[in-house]
Amino acid sequence: MTTLVSKFGGTSVGSAEAIEQAAHLILKQSREWDRQAVVVSAMAGVTDTLTRGALTTASGDDQTYRAVVAELRVRHHHTVDKLLAADGERAQLSATVDSYLEEFASFCRSVDVLGEVTPRAMDAIASLGERINARILAALLRQWGAQSKARDATGLIVTDATFQNAMPLMKATCAQVSARLAPLLDEGVIPIVTGYIGATEGGVTTTLGRGGSDYSAALLAHCLGADEIWTWTDVDGVMTADPRIVPDARVIPVLSYSEVSELAYFGAKVLHPRAIRPVVECGIPLWVKNTFNPSCPGTCIGRQPETTPGTVKAVTAIRRLSMVTVEGRGMMGVPGIAARTFSAVASQGASVLMISQSSSEQSICFVIPTEGVSSIICAVEEEMTLELARRDVDRVWSLDDVVIVTAVGAGMRSTPGVAARIFGALGQGEINVIAMAQGSSDCSVSLVIAADAAAEAVRLIHSKVILNVGH
Ligand code: ASP
Ligand code: MG
Repeated sequence: MTTLVSKFGGTSVGSAEAIEQAAHLILKQSREWDRQAVVVSAMAGVTDTLTRGALTTASGDDQTYRAVVAELRVRHHHTVDKLLAADGERAQLSATVDSYLEEFASFCRSVDVLGEVTPRAMDAIASLGERINARILAALLRQWGAQSKARDATGLIVTDATFQNAMPLMKATCAQVSARLAPLLDEGVIPIVTGYIGATEGGVTTTLGRGGSDYSAALLAHCLGADEIWTWTDVDGVMTADPRIVPDARVIPVLSYSEVSELAYFGAKVLHPRAIRPVVECGIPLWVKNTFNPSCPGTCIGRQPETTPGTVKAVTAIRRLSMVTVEGRGMMGVPGIAARTFSAVASQGASVLMISQSSSEQSICFVIPTEGVSSIICAVEEEMTLELARRDVDRVWSLDDVVIVTAVGAGMRSTPGVAARIFGALGQGEINVIAMAQGSSDCSVSLVIAADAAAEAVRLIHSKVILNVGH
């Protein structure tokens, strides 16, 4: 018995034509697999539009949300009219669209009265795009003769109450999936499940964070014991670099879990970073494929160990970062400075992307998103008040406009010379490396570089190290 979980992202279901294409792919898959569950995103841009409607209302604007209703109504009605026959489910689906948009409007009216939008309300609002789209896709499949049913993940994915970034409770989720989703699959029904959303044990709607539909697919696959996950998107697979920066970027055919985790962490927008975990834990291969070019095999992410020594597979850049340095000669040999620095950082809710400390212990530096930098400097200064007064710590300062460029590839592991090639490439471009870090997983090297040199750094590493031009 083979089981597939497939997931269609926003652009893959972003228009009537795209939904039609997705439906073709689903039918083809159901001829090839015994059981299939489908996870669907909202139409591209809809989650943003709903969010914008709620936020403008909270800031006192009671007009924008009405325009949002009108815009989303036109878009979804147009889609329904194009896809569904007048003598079929068209009228019923149009009414469904209207009732969800009425729900949105009534949420916005309360936001308007209260003058604020809570994270909990935000999740209820942001979930509507997926709810609508799952129903449209399921209706189209039924029109084409398939047995299909839309299912809200609020009845399947059980989460904690961290609204806007909820954590799934695995045991409860698997129990729901076994009780409510698996039987549909066994009956030959293709369930179309809303991505991105879940609910607390008490049934309150939550979301898994933006881009969370990948995560939804991974969770369902885990609970269903699926053989594979296919995530359909609008690119041919995971690329060696961002093609907007590097025009000759290529598709990477095979990536291991550890490589893709590094990539997801370091900003390649291919997969929701947390989506990797459930997949790794049960070893389910995950394919990234292009809805608009389905004959391209895409990228397979799995357990495969890297076989080619020395290969660097991809290079990414994360922007809008600052590097904070805590420095002072009196820090040498004093235990606890690092722990206190990072607990001050954590108290500001910031997540640190990279850490480096010179072994002379005269400075610790770390990289964080620029938006948090001033509050973090204050928190660290407050923590170090005594050391600053004694001049054990001289200063806490930040360098803004930096970028982390990361080269990823498990083949770097125990292959000498990879870092030399990376630095050689940057040297040729006269690009200065401000700081660097290499994890002991040996799967990536990260460099801090001035923002204005980042694109060139990515291009150089791509051509000289990944493609090996002129090597
Ligand atoms: N629709 C949601 C978003 O735009 C979830 C997703 O598409 O993965 O973030
Ligand atoms: Mg996405």
